[in-house]
Amino acid sequence: VKLSFTPIKRPDEETVGLITVLQDVTEEEKLERQRKEFVANVSHELRTPLTTIKSYLEALDEGGAMEDPELASRFLRVTRGEADRMTRLINDLLQLSRMDAKNTRFNKQSISLKDVLEGVADRFSVQCKQKEISFRLNVPEHLPRIYADRDQIDQVLDNLLSNAVKYTPEGRSITVSAQRRSDGFVAVSVADTGIGIPKKDLDRIFERFYRVDKARSRSMGGTGLGLSIAREIVKAHGGEIHIDSEYGKGTTVTFSLPPCEPEVVG
Ligand code: ADP
Repeated sequence: VKLSFTPIKRPDEETVGLITVLQDVTEEEKLERQRKEFVANVSHELRTPLTTIKSYLEALDEGGAMEDPELASRFLRVTRGEADRMTRLINDLLQLSRMDAKNTRFNKQSISLKDVLEGVADRFSVQCKQKEISFRLNVPEHLPRIYADRDQIDQVLDNLLSNAVKYTPEGRSITVSAQRRSDGFVAVSVADTGIGIPKKDLDRIFERFYRVDKARSRSMGGTGLGLSIAREIVKAHGGEIHIDSEYGKGTTVTFSLPPCEPEVVG
């Protein structure tokens, strides 16, 4: 709590009272702490790949790896992978900052969610096959059309499905389902039977850069921003997103999207 005092004076300057202001600064301090944490995280996330790039380039330059074509090409591959990670991170950050500034132009229109889900199923079924993960799409025959930006919804689904694939071991399953809720909104869920998330981490999992296991996320190519971006996009559509998970058993992320008005099935 911040305390401030202002004297009340008569025209002859004699103090006749005191205005006391008690200000609750908890929220302000929280925001300031989050801002500092965010800057520290961004710096760290950018420095890590840069350090790797620099050390591999030095090894090429000074360590004689250049004379060994196999080693040289391996070093270059690592360097390129790290540069790609930096690009991904910067793209994610730019997208978040555009959404923070309300600068994203959403091209919302009536779209068939069924088409969107079938498209995403096509994209991911190959990855799933490679990992021997069985993939199911559960969409009822009659689903209301939604009022949304197709590219953005694709991105939400890509983020959720790439997490599901990343954190689900071989031989398990992923199911994407959609259904109309009683309020007319459509709920989409991405459920996996993967490693799950410990209860203590669930509350913070949508925060920027929050990860259960930083090393694991990085080694899988993650930026730690996928869920935050998904949440911002869903919020910008007037929907909600939440996550349920049981450690060791699996995770389900569910989000809702508004129907187009008047409601059209298709
Ligand atoms: P990342 O790029 O690290 O995957 P996200 O924001 O997409 O970043 O997810 C944040 C963290 O949430 C991940 O690092 C991981 O710990 C956890 N997580 C997200 N989705 C899943 C899932 N389907 N199963 C298990 N853990 C998950």
